[in-house]
Amino acid sequence: MKNSHKFYINGEWVEPTNLKTLEVINPADESSLGTIALGDAKDVEKAVSAARNAFESFANTSRDDRISLLEAIEAAYKPRFDEMAETISKEMGAPMWLCKGGQAKMMSLHLKTTIKVLKSFEFNDTQGKVNLRKEPIGVCGFITPWNWPINQISTKVFPALATGCTMVLKPTEVAPLNAIIFAEVLHEAGVPKGVFNLINGDGPSVGEALSSHPDIDMMSFTGSTRAGIRVAKAAADTVKRVTQELGGKSPNIILEDADLERSITTGVNGMTMNSGQSCNAPSRMFVPAALQDKVVEIARAVAEGTTVGDPNTKINMGPVVSKAQFDKIQGLIAKGIEEGATLVCGGLGRPDGIDKGYYVKPTIFSNVHNDMTIAREEIFGPVLCILPYETEEEAIKMANDTLYGLSGYVSGTNPAKLKEIANKIRAGNVHINGADMDFNAPFGGYKQSGNGREWGSVGFEEFLEIKAVMDIDAA
Ligand code: NAD
Repeated sequence: MKNSHKFYINGEWVEPTNLKTLEVINPADESSLGTIALGDAKDVEKAVSAARNAFESFANTSRDDRISLLEAIEAAYKPRFDEMAETISKEMGAPMWLCKGGQAKMMSLHLKTTIKVLKSFEFNDTQGKVNLRKEPIGVCGFITPWNWPINQISTKVFPALATGCTMVLKPTEVAPLNAIIFAEVLHEAGVPKGVFNLINGDGPSVGEALSSHPDIDMMSFTGSTRAGIRVAKAAADTVKRVTQELGGKSPNIILEDADLERSITTGVNGMTMNSGQSCNAPSRMFVPAALQDKVVEIARAVAEGTTVGDPNTKINMGPVVSKAQFDKIQGLIAKGIEEGATLVCGGLGRPDGIDKGYYVKPTIFSNVHNDMTIAREEIFGPVLCILPYETEEEAIKMANDTLYGLSGYVSGTNPAKLKEIANKIRAGNVHINGADMDFNAPFGGYKQSGNGREWGSVGFEEFLEIKAVMDIDAA
């Protein structure tokens, strides 16, 4: 890839201060996709300075200017769409159908929502003698992961552009090539110099340098809770705003009167989609104890019908992203067996007939207790835990007995009961009867799933400071 050994700073592709490289691996066959440059604190310095210099002028652009800019990005993305989908598939292993219909498409969908929200967003409000102004927070640092890479970049960069902020992005070093295409698209669209900057690198060097930089006003992070805590600590000395979208261990409560075939199929598919590598995956399925056998039968059939293989072929599920993730998932499957959960299907090792690539078997455990390691830790792989419950109160108690609070799911037929349970789940998003994500609805978590919300108009607020102007002469 043309710019893989360069960084995008102040509107140009520039050489790193010291060239250090890292190999990007295709998880489908363990081959090398080439190398990227890894930056350091000196590169961060240059990028932050470019973003700082660009801030005053960009913060003062009009709403119409920024709408035109976002529309130009939309136009510049169209000819790069297929390349984006193929690149994401190669570097993180999602099947091509998902990369075209989901992964790469998220950039277009978030752009559309951002433009729509920007057209009517209230940046100014008068309450009596007080004028409330919402002003861009300043220079933002963004750190993003590999599981939905362009989605997570989009949910930060577009609202930041829409609200007049400037920024430095450090994407994941595991799947970094899509971010290079992203920067090329923004350049092609005419994003003014210094407004958007990209540095590749790892967490301890570039990530920490960004998080602690005194000239960055806000850090927005998506990834593990471990790294999110590091970012918040590094940002604390300079009192930055920090938003975090972290891990999850989301409950999926199946009520006694639910359509079992439908809700169990949706629940299992939710765990194999993207190889289970979604922070909001419905990983703990709570089922009435008396129905567990029936649930297991349906779940096994769905998992065994899930095809796994080469992301370029017609399969349901590709590999997981890396050897590190493969090993972590294998370790947790072994832990589940060791701690006495019942292995329904899947289990250790690659699926039959596959001897290369980081492929994991769709795995289901039943008779899981909420205190087992597999019910407590985010596995981030295609591993579903089925937990029996006796009463709804017990199900809700166990659902909320977790460090996380990103998403929740509930299925049943009584609308009042479904609402009541949705209200009791301590999570940022709750889906009733398989309701899909809504791009206008805020996304983010309670507890250790993070702070702040992304997506839609609520996502804009994160990038704004509020100024109250008191005027004695105001009418
Ligand atoms: P990670 O948190 O280590 O990496 C995510 C991003 O944080 C990357 O850009 C990385 O370079 C950066 N980073 C790492 N350490 C940092 C530090 N000290 N300071 C600043 N930035 C830092 O995630 P991972 O290692 O790729 O995956 C590990 C686990 O994280 C997964 O198993 C999963 O549980 C979780 N995860 C969650 C999400 C999510 O969307 N919530 C996404 C990816 C991973």
